[in-house]
Amino acid sequence: MYKIYPFGEYSHGLLGMKESISAVFKIPIEYSFQFIEYLATKNRVRGHDLCPCGSKKKIRLCHFELLKEIINSEKKIIYENVYNEMRKSKWKK
Ligand SMILES: [Zn+2]
Repeated sequence: MYKIYPFGEYSHGLLGMKESISAVFKIPIEYSFQFIEYLATKNRVRGHDLCPCGSKKKIRLCHFELLKEIINSEKKIIYENVYNEMRKSKWKK
């Protein structure tokens, strides 16, 4: 089902995905969906937006470099796929 997956093996479906995202990006698990949503749906990073990691800081003071790097690379498609899988799940929040 997942031909390319950035977070390695996971065995608990969506919860595992959220746990992996939380671990990889060092963000609270409850913000993992909105973090991936930002990566998947934005075409550029706006530094004055609040960071989707839930820190309540502006992006430019928080995950700016990481978000920019992913959004400007071919890795973005991976996060679009992950986001679509998460949206399909009933545990999306
Ligand atoms: Zn952040």
